[in-house]
Amino acid sequence: MDYIQLTELYEKLESTSKRLEKTIILAEFLKNCPKKDVDKIMLLVQGIVFPKSDDRKIGVASKLIVKALNIASGITTDDIEKTWKKTGDLGLTSEELIKKKRQHTLFSQDLTVDKVFSNIQKLATIEGLGSTDVKLKTIAELLTSAKPKEAKYITRTVLEDLRVGLGEGTLRDAIAIAYYERHGGKVDLESKDPSFGGGSELVKIRDSIQEAYDVTNDYAIVAQMIIDDDINILQTLELNTQKPVKVMLAQKAKNVSEAFETVGRPAAIEYKYDGFRMLIGKHGDKVTIHTRRLENVSAQFPEVVKLIRENITTESCIIDGEAVGYNPQTKKYVPFQNISQRIKRKYDIEQMAKDVPVELNIFDIIYYDGKSTIKETFSERRKLIEKIIKEKPFHIRLAQQVITDNDNDAEKFYKKSLDAGNEGVMFKNINAPYKPGSRVGTWIKLKPVMETLDVVIVAAEWGEGKRTGWLTSYTVAIYDEDTDNYLEIGKFGTGIKEKKGEEDLNDENIVSFNELTEALKPYIITEKGREVTIKPNIVVELKFEEIQKSPSYSSGYALRFPRLVRIRMDRRPDESSTLNQVEGFYKEQY
Ligand code: AMP
Repeated sequence: MDYIQLTELYEKLESTSKRLEKTIILAEFLKNCPKKDVDKIMLLVQGIVFPKSDDRKIGVASKLIVKALNIASGITTDDIEKTWKKTGDLGLTSEELIKKKRQHTLFSQDLTVDKVFSNIQKLATIEGLGSTDVKLKTIAELLTSAKPKEAKYITRTVLEDLRVGLGEGTLRDAIAIAYYERHGGKVDLESKDPSFGGGSELVKIRDSIQEAYDVTNDYAIVAQMIIDDDINILQTLELNTQKPVKVMLAQKAKNVSEAFETVGRPAAIEYKYDGFRMLIGKHGDKVTIHTRRLENVSAQFPEVVKLIRENITTESCIIDGEAVGYNPQTKKYVPFQNISQRIKRKYDIEQMAKDVPVELNIFDIIYYDGKSTIKETFSERRKLIEKIIKEKPFHIRLAQQVITDNDNDAEKFYKKSLDAGNEGVMFKNINAPYKPGSRVGTWIKLKPVMETLDVVIVAAEWGEGKRTGWLTSYTVAIYDEDTDNYLEIGKFGTGIKEKKGEEDLNDENIVSFNELTEALKPYIITEKGREVTIKPNIVVELKFEEIQKSPSYSSGYALRFPRLVRIRMDRRPDESSTLNQVEGFYKEQY
């Protein structure tokens, strides 16, 4: 397939913000897409060339694109930078400059999807001496053959900043419709019915695709497998102990009775540990640890790997739990921030494991002895973990739990959990299956603190005076699931330590400007004067006084007196608070 066809799809997708329209546009495209291109298309429309669970990154800086553009267009880097300043967007800049291109290339060929895909993939694997030059050539080769529109999207893909707004639900529904139509079904796009007149058959197809996605985290595999085959082939997909799975998420309740109301009585109530989530796969001696961002952190937690090998009595499993840091001297739990540094650590790992040890609290199992246990009830799954885990205090334990239908007992347990230094409790429906990646009403969290939001930093300003060299005044956004977009909701600049490491007992802030700046720097997209736009990647938790309606921000809401609580290195940007949640909070206030 020619790449130009894909860019036409991108343009159509960009032209609407409505989820339904995007679904139809993509479905139509997939319906006619040659099978051999389906997997690449499914990745490229998400702006990626590796599945989300793959650790490889394209890792190309804007500056290299500027150089590649210079080679491809013959326009000087100074002039390119000028256009870039004007458009504020390197994708648009590429488009404009390729249009103006002075140097006509005689042998430029039509770009194919294959060519673009493989060149961009190659960028992630080029390493070592002279790698920058090879990368430059690889990008320039594409831009030289590119038509203006193609240049725009190639640039955005290389910068991992495509933004055509396809949420996971949209991708799933589009594959379902395309499959249905390729197999003789006919949808009625005018129909008001959510399944477009495809009825229960289309709903079943959609559910099978969702289930397959829960297992693989990869729509490329799923779509490619079924597109010209029988949907039942998806049954052959099984969880893999070395691949990440999205974790199940919780909704919240205000009090014990509301929590019971949602999950039903009796409920399993558990300590809500304040650490970070680990999904741990074991196959024989091979142990793989993933965070909820699907990052592989096995190397950062060698002691956990050893613990699992020695204290889990089954050949293969995937268990879900929370790693909580504790002070090795006092044996008291420490706040999440103290162990978050372990996630990215590349050196002195063994020492770090001694200084900041973690205790694993296991609360679920999704795979056991070669089979998924997702569909079993929570009670059944709990029995399994009770059977296979040898508990060892301060190393590995089962989550503390009571099962009760009684408000008083629940209150007592809640208090006991808080007294033990936890964040609150989790209520769980004892008959419910495990739902990867979903925030369903069968898990409910209850905690006493003031409301906080998890938001993504999307812009900032370079500081002045004593804050020179640091990013300050951070613009933050929430996630809109329907359009896969980030919507601004305010700015914050308080709750941050001026200096790193200096212990000031009156300073309750835990994160410094310096730390925030270092975390954000790799994601800077554009700079205009002091203003910097930042690719959504770093999630922070903010306290605030109130949510107000506001025309100044694209979410339509603003936070009053926002203040930083902590950086959430463990969160993916699309796991931040959503527009729906903010709307809910807003209504709840009154
Ligand atoms: P929150 O991060 O506030 O959305 O709360 C949900 C998180 O609590 C989960 O993602 C886990 O990381 C954590 N957690 C702590 N203890 C438990 C537990 N017993 N069951 C489930 N999640 C838990």
